[in-house]
Amino acid sequence: MPSDAVLAAPAVSAPVTATPVLRVSGLSVEYRTARGVVHALDNVSFELAPGETLGIVGESGCGKSTLARAVVRLLDPSAGTIRLGETDITHATRRRMRAARRDLQMVLQDPAASLDPRWTVGDLLAEPLEIHGIGSRAERRARVADLLDKVGLPPEAAQRRPHEFSGGQRQRIGIARALALEPKVVVLDEPVSALDVSVQAQILNLLTDLQRTLGVSFLFIGHDLSVVEYVSDRVAVMYLGRIVELGGRDSLWRRPAHPYTRALLDAAPRIDGPSAPAGPGLTGDTPSPYDLPSGCRFHTRCPIAADVCRRLAPAMQALSPGHHVACHFPDSGSEPPSMQSAINS
Ligand code: SF4
Repeated sequence: MPSDAVLAAPAVSAPVTATPVLRVSGLSVEYRTARGVVHALDNVSFELAPGETLGIVGESGCGKSTLARAVVRLLDPSAGTIRLGETDITHATRRRMRAARRDLQMVLQDPAASLDPRWTVGDLLAEPLEIHGIGSRAERRARVADLLDKVGLPPEAAQRRPHEFSGGQRQRIGIARALALEPKVVVLDEPVSALDVSVQAQILNLLTDLQRTLGVSFLFIGHDLSVVEYVSDRVAVMYLGRIVELGGRDSLWRRPAHPYTRALLDAAPRIDGPSAPAGPGLTGDTPSPYDLPSGCRFHTRCPIAADVCRRLAPAMQALSPGHHVACHFPDSGSEPPSMQSAINS
């Protein structure tokens, strides 16, 4: 356990109206290296409803990509549970995970990493169906044509190899492959970060269209706030391995309660729409993951940190239905918190 877990560490169980398709509880991931132990994820909890997109944002090194890899079991958690529907996959064997892959797929930032350049696109899209013994050869061919159509590529694309396509087209192929088995959940790890802005918009529109027609749920990892705002129903903000705020997109954008969320939103360029209230801004660098701050991990950069913040990790608390924050002084803006002196005394 990290040394700063003096109070209950932040844990969010966001209320969802339907039975969750994915339920992550108290998930932690630790790396042991020659320099020491890295607490890459600490007690992360959330739920994902059918047809919902949960965006995960935070600076580089906040743990969002570790979270994505842990959820699809490319990394082994050191604590916590991952439930896919009614199935606990936290410690599923490779064989059981193969079965779970029907319902849980991933799209990577660089689609080339998951597309074997020696294979045709048709073979790449048919492979998941073959592995799971789905359909006859003719039925799989028809399914490949249907998948290509769904992601806006012509049927002839099946005969070509990945290197013959642009970055945006390759990402369409990656999305088609992820959807081949009609999964309930797709984890998207920065799926548009490597693409030009105009292509980003096409892929984001494709994802929202596919979600509307297929009802699939997305766990969307991103660092571009405007992209995450565009695609997400709810958003979780991560800092140094923990979720520090989680809420409905509009609630979180209009009333960010955590100083870190406020700073992130203040720093993000906006062309239109309502801006978040101006906050005090970020100072300093992200602390080393080998030497995490005591108490609230954000206290070394927080402009309103008080003594209690250095001593006690704030527990997650509900501000309003579905909007949770881990801060001793939520939504206190740039003014010193009024409770500060009383708590410090
Ligand atoms: Fe953390 Fe305290 Fe700042 Fe809240 S006010 S983010 S608890 S340092």
